[in-house]
Amino acid sequence: MQYKIEIRSVKDLLDDKKYLTNINIQRKYIYTHEQAKYLLDSIQKKIPIPAIYLWDNNDGTFNVLDGKQRITVMRIYENPMYLGSPINFFIDFMNSNDFYNYEIPVIICNGTEEEKIETFYRINTTAVKLTEFEIMNALYQGPFVEEFGNWGENISPIEAKFFGSDRRGNNCIKALSLFTTDTRDYFSHNKNVSFTNGLKKQIEKLVSDTNQIFGQYGNDLYILAKIVLENSNNPTTISSWKLNANKIVELLQEYNSNGELSVAPSKESFYKEILGCYNITGLDSKRFFTRDEKKILFEKLQKGLSKGKRICPDCNKEFSFDELEIDHIKAWSKGGTTTLDNAQLLCKPCNIKKSNK
Ligand SMILES: [Zn+2]
Repeated sequence: MQYKIEIRSVKDLLDDKKYLTNINIQRKYIYTHEQAKYLLDSIQKKIPIPAIYLWDNNDGTFNVLDGKQRITVMRIYENPMYLGSPINFFIDFMNSNDFYNYEIPVIICNGTEEEKIETFYRINTTAVKLTEFEIMNALYQGPFVEEFGNWGENISPIEAKFFGSDRRGNNCIKALSLFTTDTRDYFSHNKNVSFTNGLKKQIEKLVSDTNQIFGQYGNDLYILAKIVLENSNNPTTISSWKLNANKIVELLQEYNSNGELSVAPSKESFYKEILGCYNITGLDSKRFFTRDEKKILFEKLQKGLSKGKRICPDCNKEFSFDELEIDHIKAWSKGGTTTLDNAQLLCKPCNIKKSNK
């Protein structure tokens, strides 16, 4: 087993198609646009990238042991199906000499077929991918990342329900994501700040507030914490939720068992709609009808000619159960109650017409 290290330009790598001899042990192209963008951005900024490993087959062909993803990105202009908007941005650069002349370290190995497999295996097992938190830990050493990491490793069972428990800081990133959209920027600006006396207290308060309201419900606590945090500058809302915690949980459990949660546009918007009722006085705290209530209304409608269909009272056309929608006769937002005596079934077009009035 031998190897040598050489420097190759992008042009050398691209011109010499025999480097790209496919081997079955290599993965398909799996880079995200983000990863491809980072690679091209590094080349543009003349930041060095990790070495590419080639295996010399001694017959003029080479197998790529490591670096196939990177080479594929460099060749992307040959394969327009990979072109997405973030990469389009680099097309001019990729036609320039700066791109073609960029130099990449290449490690060329040779030996027996067994050594080839063994080398491939070792390269790919020693290269453990770091988590986002581990990268932050390497970049922004200081009390903040150190204390934060300890918190993540020794997370309490309640906090683990919100953020998960692993020993590589994914839970830290998940918690921090509630408080900032740019976690890396947060690490960089707070590296010398105490986590224990700062962010930790905010996380604990949020967990405690959310747990007081939704603890018995137990599902989707992370999403619910996000909504609680968004309302944290409104203490009356939070205390009203705490006061009505039992009612809210009951409502959520009811919707969940009726499968209504699973048909909502997103869990977050669904929870927000339900919780919205506790913001505004004078509105029925029950926002949605259940599927069982819809069945009762459906039975009451006049039967259609086709089996299982009923007549829409507004347009007199016939529809199936799923095509009909429940309408508050007096709108919920105007104080109408979510009760059967204030409900009717309409077809979608009629319901839209009515709500536009
Ligand atoms: Zn209709």
